[in-house]
Amino acid sequence: MVYFIGAGPGAADLITLRGKAILERAEVILWADTLVNPEILNLARPAARIYPTGGMALEKQVEVMVEAVKSGQVVARLHTGDPSIYGATREQMRALDTAGVAYAVVPGVSSVFAVAAALKTELTQPEVSQTVILTRAAGRTPVPPSEALKGLAAHRATLVLLLSANLLEGAVAELLAGGYSPDTPAALVYRASWPEEKILRTPLSEISKAAKEANINRQAILIVGEALAAGATRSRLYSTRLQPGCFVGDER
Ligand code: SAH
Repeated sequence: MVYFIGAGPGAADLITLRGKAILERAEVILWADTLVNPEILNLARPAARIYPTGGMALEKQVEVMVEAVKSGQVVARLHTGDPSIYGATREQMRALDTAGVAYAVVPGVSSVFAVAAALKTELTQPEVSQTVILTRAAGRTPVPPSEALKGLAAHRATLVLLLSANLLEGAVAELLAGGYSPDTPAALVYRASWPEEKILRTPLSEISKAAKEANINRQAILIVGEALAAGATRSRLYSTRLQPGCFVGDER
């Protein structure tokens, strides 16, 4: 069996217990070496065969996984954050389907949430924003026209931009053109949960200049929205007066 495992955002202890347990018994490990913390590999058995996938073609990765599983071995495929967000797992799964190899997915802590933790913020705030948009600027990988930043900006929801640190200036211009006001709170977080983590907070109109000054152009997430403001809204979750119809079960 192949396990696609979310390795978490960086800090080695942000992998799940389930991910750790599989890693400890895996005979073959493929890992995304550009963003996954190598410290996590200390969990591997000494005899495990370990492959960094950075310079490895998809076909080769699949070949290694298929061969291992066919000879009865457990394969761990480590992805950064959670595998479901820009993980490029679909193409691997399709190839494993073709080869008749079974697989499962173990979720991980996405960098999106490590960034929210670094900012000590909630991405949703009562009466401010109850919607989070995860997206990216169009780069080498195009974005469907219906998801252009300018259009998404019209919602003025909390917007989380991955894979875009080198495209900030254009992205911010689109967000401003689309409806966010220039003073909307924005934060750029570089390598959240790593020792070299950096946090920049400015109004939206100033964030790309601040990024340039701090020399941040990769491995960062931009979050934009009024939810980042230190406003004093209060949810009904811990309200002392029970109002009929409020917070029944999951409805908060
Ligand atoms: N599956 C991953 C995202 C992969 S896309 C996840 O769930 O986190 C890669 C992008 O993730 C980077 O361009 C950057 O925007 C973001 N990223 C990954 N790790 C990060 C970290 N520790 N801090 C800030 N951004 C990070």
